Amino acid sequence: MIRLDNITKIYQTSNGPVEALKDISLDVKEGEIFGIIGYSGAGKSTLIRLINLLEQPTSGSIKVHNQDLSQLTGKKLRKERQKIGMIFQHFNLLWSRTVAENIEFPLEIAGVPKKVRKERVKELITLVGLDGRGKSYPSQLSGGQKQRVGIARALANNPKVLLCDEATSALDPKTTNSILKLLVEINRNLGLTIVLITHEMHVIQSICHRVGVLDNGHIVEEGRVKDVFNHP
Ligand code: ADP
Ligand code: ADP
Repeated sequence: MIRLDNITKIYQTSNGPVEALKDISLDVKEGEIFGIIGYSGAGKSTLIRLINLLEQPTSGSIKVHNQDLSQLTGKKLRKERQKIGMIFQHFNLLWSRTVAENIEFPLEIAGVPKKVRKERVKELITLVGLDGRGKSYPSQLSGGQKQRVGIARALANNPKVLLCDEATSALDPKTTNSILKLLVEINRNLGLTIVLITHEMHVIQSICHRVGVLDNGHIVEEGRVKDVFNHP
């Protein structure tokens, strides 16, 4: 589904080159929940920005459904990016727009007609358990509710992949569990492939099928969660 081959990413900085990712290869299978765990500075954000096509690798290739995405530009790039949904640690909602308007936003950008948009927004609000909150503003919601808006917005254009960037790191443990449960439901019911990055082991252990451990730009371990974390 998502295949990274020999990805290296070097940032040029005023202090010289920084090698954020070093010869990384990964294979995320369709329909799985794949976790990437690592300490701060390990390269997690860089990796997710590459998968989200926000950055291009210095070398190596990224393929989604066998199509090489690493060299796409312009319209084609935007088209492919619509197939990827993303949620964030700090939600990244539009604070002057209501819940419904936040969820509608990516549909507007994709040029979906108004009537279809309204229907879809209603569906999404129900899907994430926010019935009755469509007219609320983000500032009136709890952290967990804000992330539910983030999830609904990410799913608006029916992506094939959902990327989660420390999506529960700003939430308390109980809220974290309710969001993880929602992600599992989405994975099961919609068959959506999920890639999540986190520094929290329990997040990986509670919902991921497989995991890659990122350390200093290298994948140092990769496999099924129970094999990676249960050493003899
Ligand atoms: P993580 O998300 O695991 O904390 P990052 O991907 O943010 O790791 O960072 C990996 C390395 O790349 C770090 O050394 C960081 O300082 C560097 N880095 C990340 N983004 C940039 C950037 N835009 N410019 C220069 N260096 C960067
Ligand atoms: P929570 O209370 O769930 O932690 P916050 O309200 O603190 O969420 O918001 C998280 C992020 O959104 C922070 O980075 C904050 O700066 C930003 N933010 C919060 N309120 C606004 C606002 N009215 N306008 C712009 N950004 C905001």
